[in-house]
Amino acid sequence: MKISFNNLNLSNSIVENEILTEILKIIRESAFIGGESVDDFEIKFAEKLRVKHCIGVSNGTAALWISLKALGIGEGDEVIVPANTFFACAEAVETAGAKPVFCDNDEYFNIDVTKLENLMSERTKAIMVVHLYGQACDIDEIKVICKKYNLFLIEDCSQAHFSKYKNEYCGSFGDIATFSFYPGKNLGAMGDAGAIVTNNDDYAEKCRLFRNHGEAGKSNHVMIGFNCRLDAIQAAVLKVKLKYIDEWNRQRNEIASIYVSELGSCDNIVLPKVKSKNYHSFHLFVILAEKRYELKNFLQSVGISTGIHYPLPIPLMPIYKDLWAEHIERLRMCISYSEKLLSLPIFPGMTKEEVMYVTKMIKQFYEL
Ligand SMILES: *Cc1c(COP(=O)(O)O)cnc(C)c1O
Repeated sequence: MKISFNNLNLSNSIVENEILTEILKIIRESAFIGGESVDDFEIKFAEKLRVKHCIGVSNGTAALWISLKALGIGEGDEVIVPANTFFACAEAVETAGAKPVFCDNDEYFNIDVTKLENLMSERTKAIMVVHLYGQACDIDEIKVICKKYNLFLIEDCSQAHFSKYKNEYCGSFGDIATFSFYPGKNLGAMGDAGAIVTNNDDYAEKCRLFRNHGEAGKSNHVMIGFNCRLDAIQAAVLKVKLKYIDEWNRQRNEIASIYVSELGSCDNIVLPKVKSKNYHSFHLFVILAEKRYELKNFLQSVGISTGIHYPLPIPLMPIYKDLWAEHIERLRMCISYSEKLLSLPIFPGMTKEEVMYVTKMIKQFYEL
């Protein structure tokens, strides 16, 4: 059996005809930038998330950068960022002119709330949380800290489309929140795309201006922005796929529950823990595995592709490692995890037989 890490064809084939109809309409109207398609998606996405504003942008990294700009974060400021996440989180902070301060993770793979206060300085302006792999962070506890230190809360929901915390969607808790619609994400475009959501009118207006050259009405440039627009064709793709996301997340949960019940007795791996107040969207199914690389290679040899998210915490990347060498002790948990993390295949349309084959091969590797 051959099992890829992700298979976009299975979900795309379901929506292909609907999307082609929408794209044809856009082509015939030459409505490629902005217009009804983008407006429509923004309204539907905000409604479904139960937030006031959605601003479509060109990708998830731009969404983070623009959010920081809208909050007025820049030169001389610090933003607390998880150490184990995609590089874009730190990159966006740097691009805005501020400095990332890296925080260790807890056993749920999310930012460790108990370690936040140690990282504060008078320059700290915001906490950027990432609902990693699809599970919400400890929102209530983080909000208490944000209030105490007067910090903004930025949620990166790039891996948490319609994940829930206490029955509310990720993206509705922070001052501002961002999404990536990179094709492999739970809600994926057919190219690059992203969005910002917020309940704050002022931030929403700033983001709208920023993504389109600071232009408030034709040729009336009121601020320095950039071109970070969401294009009409990607918006049309997302609008169609939005109707299917709940079902796709349900399928991911079903696959996850098979992994959990089949691998529960395996002492050589640690399964992902889900907090009872959370609805996990399982963008990734990440285990901690003994002999990780041997297991990965073995699975590959029997036709199963896996991933590692992420092989190195950001502060250990070449660009940061000298700067962060003296703070390694603070990052104990994420460094030890980075040697064991392994992402198993999980995608809508993956069959029960395929999931069972993966679990069987893992057990075979550990000779159970
Ligand atoms: C995918 C991702 C991004 C970046 O999104 P792009 O659309 O690729 O720019 C940012 N943060 C996290 C946590 C991601 O997973």
